[in-house]
Amino acid sequence: MKNTLKITRVETDLLILGGGSAGLWAAHRFAECMPGRRICIVDKGPRDWGGLMAMAGGDFEAVLPPDTVDDWLEDLVYYFDGLCDQPLMEAILSRSAERMRDYERFGCEFFRTPDGNLRSVPQRGLPHVRLYPARVKGRGGELMAKSLVARLKDAGVTRMGRIMLTDYLARDGRVIGAAGFHCVSGEAYIFHAGAVIAATGMGGWKTSYGKNTPTGEGLRMAFAAGAELQDLEFARVWNMPRLFAWEGQTHLFPLGARFVNRMGENFMSRYSPVLGPNTDPHFTTVGMALEIRAGRGPIIFDVSPLRDEDMVLLKPQTGWQKLNYEKLCGLGLDLFKNNTEWVPQMTVSHGGIRTEIDGSTAVAGLFAAGTARSLEPGVYAGGFALMTTAVTGHMVGETAAAWLRNADAAPAPDEAEAEALLERAFAPLGREGADRLTPKQVLTGIQTAVFPHDVSIVKNGPALERALAEIRRIREEDVPRMAAADPHYLLKLHEVVSVAFVSELFVRASLERKESRAGHFREDFPHPDPAGPAWLLVRHGADGRPVFARERVPLEKWRVPLTRCYQDNFAFVERKAAGNVQDRPS
Ligand SMILES: Cc1cc2nc3c(=O)[nH]c(=O)nc-3n(C[C@H](O)[C@H](O)[C@H](O)COP(=O)(O)OP(=O)(O)OC[C@H]3O[C@@H](n4cnc5c(N)ncnc54)[C@H](O)[C@@H]3O)c2cc1C
Repeated sequence: MKNTLKITRVETDLLILGGGSAGLWAAHRFAECMPGRRICIVDKGPRDWGGLMAMAGGDFEAVLPPDTVDDWLEDLVYYFDGLCDQPLMEAILSRSAERMRDYERFGCEFFRTPDGNLRSVPQRGLPHVRLYPARVKGRGGELMAKSLVARLKDAGVTRMGRIMLTDYLARDGRVIGAAGFHCVSGEAYIFHAGAVIAATGMGGWKTSYGKNTPTGEGLRMAFAAGAELQDLEFARVWNMPRLFAWEGQTHLFPLGARFVNRMGENFMSRYSPVLGPNTDPHFTTVGMALEIRAGRGPIIFDVSPLRDEDMVLLKPQTGWQKLNYEKLCGLGLDLFKNNTEWVPQMTVSHGGIRTEIDGSTAVAGLFAAGTARSLEPGVYAGGFALMTTAVTGHMVGETAAAWLRNADAAPAPDEAEAEALLERAFAPLGREGADRLTPKQVLTGIQTAVFPHDVSIVKNGPALERALAEIRRIREEDVPRMAAADPHYLLKLHEVVSVAFVSELFVRASLERKESRAGHFREDFPHPDPAGPAWLLVRHGADGRPVFARERVPLEKWRVPLTRCYQDNFAFVERKAAGNVQDRPS
């Protein structure tokens, strides 16, 4: 070990990686189940910032009367084209109203009409799924994060920021902690814990302020520790104003906004006469790409159908979203007044750690929650993330507590192994050599390989093969050449290592899935596989490297049959009737 490196050691009962919605809920529930036990949340971002939730509008999905869990489950089986883990989704939906009530109890308000009823916005043209907006547009998520942090302070939970964890520590097949470094001071850290929860968020490509932290270390580390991954072929391609990002489209389309092409045509109504523009961004971006390819771009965001009285739900009144809005206005882009140019933007990976319903992984001592698990196959309805992360966080807090009650004390870390991992993590710091690359240069190379529309939106085999060859070259030649001048850039460097890992799996999985389903569209395989829906799992090959395995969705065992697919509403290419639809049992 370099003797200049100072190691700080932390002992805890529960270690939580990531202080976003899932991590905060996990800590909250664990503290309720095991009062007095030590809990430590570690985040590579600022302490107590709350992860992506800090920027969220605060839209929350919950199953409230007169809707039932079965109504929503039917919607989601249809919306996910059958790729819905029904027992998991049922468990989440059944607990969604409780978590919404918790937020209200914590002082977070949802939008109510003058007669006192909750206002809801239906999502994606689905019969039941709807979100409940926060009362104050622009700060809803931030207030949720603050309300949870206040509870954790009262419960004596240790919270540490600016520490990036790079590797799990394991003994005898059990994860017993993690190692990493402080990205300002450069101090090394070793955490030793009875149980570890990965609440590290998604993988992604660092395309805007809201997507800067989800870079996939959680996936890379869990896979290295022996866990399986799934759904890597699904990524979220969102649509954005061309010059600067914007969030909040989950309200805009249900309330009437639409995209038009150069000729002013509402082209989504041509691709989907049933749903028109009120659908998932995955489908609107396929439409955008096809319009641009046919020479009918640019794509314009048309707000003329919006009603003035809905503006209170759409225009941010305070917080960072108001700053975002003012920034756009400063660029001459008042998207609520003028027609603005929008483009597809690759944002995050939906791939995640494979778990049991309760959040246990295949590795003893390691649990996962929130978007670090895979919860949706590339199509997403507004408010889904704050619901699923709250519920799975709450559930995993309970799971880890129950596990720890019966577990033996965690063996001490193997010091030599921990120090070797730290040495490897610190090796690029101050690396010399004329051929060294910055993390930004390597990230740009990865983005250039993955972002073309024929790799990320309207995928096809030859384009994916081309992207895969380039990503492999980047992994073998460019990633080892990265150097960091200081601990801050060392953090960026490790993020880019994970971006490369997730990108290679995204392209490989996209090649493997030779069909179109949910958020995965292959122009060369535009129909769903008649064999029916299957998950693509990432397992460990003989050499430990990732290999893929198909696991059929056991529809025959589950309550909701697949009688129709959401993607059948779209005619991007001539589609034959879906061959995977089961007959309803009589
Ligand atoms: C602008 C914006 C608006 C949104 N609005 C809504 C909305 O209104 N409704 C809704 O439902 N959803 C919304 N979302 C999505 C939602 O906020 C997120 O999907 C959700 O909060 C994710 O929670 P999480 O805990 O799973 O992950 P994250 O919030 O990503 O938390 C993961 C945490 O882990 C940390 N971390 C990751 N890797 C490491 C590591 N190696 N070491 C240490 N720490 C690590 C990260 O810094 C992060 O804090 C919005 C998202 C954005 C960006």
